[in-house]
Order: sequence, then structure tokens, then C-alpha cells
Amino acid sequence: FKYEADASRYNKMNYRRTGNSGLLLPELSLGLWHNFGRNDDFQNARNLLKCAFDNGITHFDLANNYGPPYGSAETTFGKILKKDFKKYRDELIISSKAGYDMWDGPYGDFGSKKYLTASLDQSLKRMELDYVDIFYHHRPDYDTPLEETMGTLDLMVRQGKALYVGISNYQPERAAEAFKILKKLGTPCLIHQPRYNMFDRWVEDGLLDLIEKEGVGAIAFSPLAQGMLTDKYLNGFPEDSRAIKDGRYLKKDQIEQQLSKIKQLNEIAQNRNQSLAQMAISWILKDDRITSVLIGASKTEQILDSLKAIKNTTFSKEEIEKISE
Ligand code: NDP
Repeated sequence: FKYEADASRYNKMNYRRTGNSGLLLPELSLGLWHNFGRNDDFQNARNLLKCAFDNGITHFDLANNYGPPYGSAETTFGKILKKDFKKYRDELIISSKAGYDMWDGPYGDFGSKKYLTASLDQSLKRMELDYVDIFYHHRPDYDTPLEETMGTLDLMVRQGKALYVGISNYQPERAAEAFKILKKLGTPCLIHQPRYNMFDRWVEDGLLDLIEKEGVGAIAFSPLAQGMLTDKYLNGFPEDSRAIKDGRYLKKDQIEQQLSKIKQLNEIAQNRNQSLAQMAISWILKDDRITSVLIGASKTEQILDSLKAIKNTTFSKEEIEKISE
């Protein structure tokens, strides 16, 4: 049967302005890094996107090499768009990226004009789209002149293949240079996408100040530290968890090392009447320089749990100190 989005979806979400731009993003966005590959359950992938959209999550984040195999998350997403979201294209913000390894040889990685141009064309084909809303350079490349990489982002916008551009994983100094070049070209940087969570706070050391000063937005990825900042590993390793199922990026010993911190944070969350996942998200949203928190999910229940975070994003001074401790 045909999918009709929940009519009350926009009452369930708050939207924040992305830097100085005209674009509003939902406080929670959904990323397709995991659970949308060729071997993942297609019906589940479909349900995740519908569940998100039914709750006001209008932004879906992809990259050329999400899968596995590389490219397959975009292919899955394209199929679901066609089946379920066709009439909602103008209500969606879809992003993709290039910058990490994608195909063999010297033109399938890093930050050249050659790589980025070919990669975006491939992404558009896989998703069956005419344009993406946001295109990112996925990581800094210190061997390619920044003028070339930023010039390519500007060109994509002029060609109508992307509406806005962003950068990801850039340190403050390199980000500042990128912002300057883009501004000069007439395509201001919309957004920066850094990792940010209670275990990894590097952005507090200069990046957030910079984006505020420059009027650029910020979307925080891996807010749950890939699932560590939830209650799922408190009593062992569930069979269906990322650490067991996948293990490429999240290792068991990494979790074991953090376990005592996770337990203490879980207690703070309980005292706030939140799940640990909710508190981890609320804690990021307490800073209004953050435009959106970019979650991942393997089950619709996780999206529904995490969504409740937006209801309580204020923290007492004591709570903040305890969390930092
Ligand atoms: P999270 O830190 O949100 O981790 C998501 C995982 O946590 C889920 O897959 C699930 O794991 C678990 N989880 C989520 N919600 C809950 C919940 N409420 N209760 C219990 N467990 C939960 O984010 P990701 O690391 O997945 O990253 C999110 C997105 O960020 C990516 O999809 C991608 O779009 C982007 N990203 C960007 C990068 C970049 O370089 N720019 C790098 C990495 C990510 P489980 O499978 O165990 O159920």
C-alpha cells in the first residue's frame, strides 16, 4: 500500500537555522552509514526512513562509500525514495559526501576536482536524483590546494548539482581557510560536520567558536559514540549490536575501556528521567551553535527513544559538571 506521511509530523520536531543561512534543519537528523547496505534488511531500512520522516526528521545524510559495499546505501536510499518518498522530495534535505576512498586508482580518494566531480555524478545516479541539498568534502586533504577543492564545491552549486556545500572533519584552522575561499567564490559554507559526543569533545577547542563567528551551522555525527552512549552495553554485548554484528569501526575492547564511565553516565541520565541515549543527545543540543544531531539507528524503536531527547535540553550546573567529571 502507498505510504502517507503522518500529517502531524511537523508538530513533533523543532527546527534550527543553519548558521546564517535560510535553511532550517531538524534537531535530529538520520544518517545512513550503517543498516542501509546491500546485505541489510530492505524492509527495515524502509521503516527507519518512514519512522524518521513521520516524526519530523526531514534530513537524511549519506556519503558515496556508505554500505557495504561502497555505494549501496545510496542505491538502497534511491529505491526507497522512488517507492515511498517521491512526492516528498521538496520536504527533504538529502546530503552526500566524497573525500574518503571510493574506487581504485588515483582519482577515487581525497580532494581533487577529478574525484569529487565524478563521485557526485555517481551519487546522483545511484540515488536517482537531479541534485543533492548538501554536498560535503568528507575530510581535509592537505596535498590538494584548498582552492581546488572549494572551487569544485562552488562549481557543483553553479551546475545545479548541489544547493549548499559543507565540510566535514576539518580542524579549525583549515576550516577557517575553507570558509574564506568559499565566501570569496560566492558560495558560503552552509555547515560543518564534526564528530561530537560526551566522549569526544574536540570541537569545543576552537571549532564551535569559529563556526559561530562565521555564521556556519554544525551537525554533530556519532552523538551516541556509535551506541556506546546508550544502555545497550551495560550488561554485555547483545548479538544484534554494532560491536558484534559489524565490528569494523566499533571494537569490543574500546567499549570495555569506557564501561565504567558509561555506567556512571547512565546513573546521571536516570536521575534526569532520561535514557542514556536521550541524555547524550540532549547534552549536544544544549548548545545553540549546534544545528542538528546526526543519529544512526538499526531499529525504529531507537529513533523513537532518541527523539524524546528534544523535550529536555536544559542541564543544571551540577549535571554539567558531573558529566564532565
Ligand atoms: P550514533 O552515535 O547515533 O550511533 C548509532 C547506533 O547507536 C545505532 O546504529 C544503534 O546501534 C545505536 N543506537 C541508536 N539509538 C539508540 C537508542 N536510542 N538506544 C540504544 N541504542 C541506540 O551515530 P553513528 O555512528 O551511526 O553516526 C550517525 C551518522 O553520522 C552516520 O549515519 C553518518 O551519516 C554520520 N557520520 C559521519 C561521519 C563523517 O566522517 N562525516 C563519520 C561517521 C558518521 P546498534 O546497531 O548497536 O543497534
